[in-house]
Amino acid sequence: MKFLDRLLEPYHHFKINPNSLRVRLTVGVATVSALGLGSVAVWISWKMETILIQTHKQNIRYISDRFPNDVEIYSDMITVETGLQKAVDNLTDGRTLLWVKNPQGKITAQSMPLKMGTNGTNLVSLTQIFPYPDLQLLNGRYWLLCSNLLTVKGVNLGRVYIAQDITDDQTMFFSLLSNLSIATAIAIGVMTVTIAWYVRRSLQPLKRISQLTQTISAEQLGDARFQLDNAPGEVKELARTFEQMLTRLSDAWEHQRQLVSDVSHELRTPLTIVSGYLQSTLRRGSNLTPTQREALEIAGMEADRTIKLLQDLLNLARVDSGQMHFKLESINLNDWLTQVKSKTEKYSDRQINWEIPPNLIIIKADPDRLLQVLYNLIDNAIKYSDPQTPITVKLDRQQQAIIQVCDRGVGIPLQDQARIFERFYRVDETRSRSTGGTGLGLSIVKTFVEGMGGNISVSSQPGKGSVFSLTFPLLLN
Ligand code: ADP
Repeated sequence: MKFLDRLLEPYHHFKINPNSLRVRLTVGVATVSALGLGSVAVWISWKMETILIQTHKQNIRYISDRFPNDVEIYSDMITVETGLQKAVDNLTDGRTLLWVKNPQGKITAQSMPLKMGTNGTNLVSLTQIFPYPDLQLLNGRYWLLCSNLLTVKGVNLGRVYIAQDITDDQTMFFSLLSNLSIATAIAIGVMTVTIAWYVRRSLQPLKRISQLTQTISAEQLGDARFQLDNAPGEVKELARTFEQMLTRLSDAWEHQRQLVSDVSHELRTPLTIVSGYLQSTLRRGSNLTPTQREALEIAGMEADRTIKLLQDLLNLARVDSGQMHFKLESINLNDWLTQVKSKTEKYSDRQINWEIPPNLIIIKADPDRLLQVLYNLIDNAIKYSDPQTPITVKLDRQQQAIIQVCDRGVGIPLQDQARIFERFYRVDETRSRSTGGTGLGLSIVKTFVEGMGGNISVSSQPGKGSVFSLTFPLLLN
């Protein structure tokens, strides 16, 4: 059993799906073929039976019908008893035996081998012999038996019994029958396997289309081509239609991307001007009432939020259309982070702890994009934690350079951690809305980090805080 298991191990992944076209076609065609072959086999058996057995049946029926006539002819010349024996002897041959019993059950004539006991012993003692030919196995031999009423010139002489030994033909029939059954079973088996193989081969191009479709990325939609050699015409046509659909999809995608990019670009400039005017009005407007001041502040905040959203959309549109280029250069993270620290301290009133070790950590990255990434993470840490809790930015060096942004804020549930890097994904819509986010920040962060050859990961516990880790390959080890 273990051996069999081991033998079949490579095929364990192979499960039969009863709904698959392959299984349905195989079962359907195999069943029809098996029925066809089975019917032919039955017909051949019937024909063989006719040739081998039926002729014997007709033969003994003929003998049983003509026997009374023969006796009648003989009895014109000799006595009835002698006529009986003469007719019996006349019809007896190597395989056919006859005997006659009078109405009292006494034997009045019988074939010589019966009398001598050389052949057909026990035959005469048989009690049930029908008027039609019937096959019986007696002492290992097959006998066709049949009886008939014997009335000669109106006198009832009892019954005549005829027995014919058909062992040779019967055995041949049985052996042909068993050979035919085996051959049919083997033919059905071979046919099923062949059909299964053929159906699988015929459906291979469909499987290939599905495999190729899985590997097409959003960027390659328009260039997707299905190379199908030896595929049937219908499948090739399906593949062409599919390619055309993908091209149309790619065009639509491109238009949409272009639209987002154009709209973001067009809206950003006037909004920046609006925001600028709002800021200066707030700064210079000494005679504003508190209500007016509050309204202007809200308008300013909303304008800034929208500018950020437009900037994010513009960045994503650039990434999607492949227009995002990174100006990679060597960055000494220790110095660079120290500069970022002093800049941030000027603009943010939130307490941020910087843990920058003295040993040299150099990576290759685009400083502007890296700054954008870091600001985004710090911004999130500020947004999703209480003002009294500390935020820490750590630099570390292991196999790689690691920058971590840690907070002790609301944290992220485990099931959301993998999804927060998706576009527009926000953990708690109501909470996120009040923080003014767009759900695009982290997806841009991830695109930037990966575009510069780094990686981003998160570890977080709801209620305890989150740690976002950026890792970059070290330039000098
Ligand atoms: P948003 O503009 O909503 O902040 P992001 O892409 O920056 O969008 O973040 C996606 C979601 O991940 C946020 O809505 C927020 O729920 C969650 N998230 C991001 N950073 C943090 C953090 N430091 N602590 C808790 N949740 C966070």
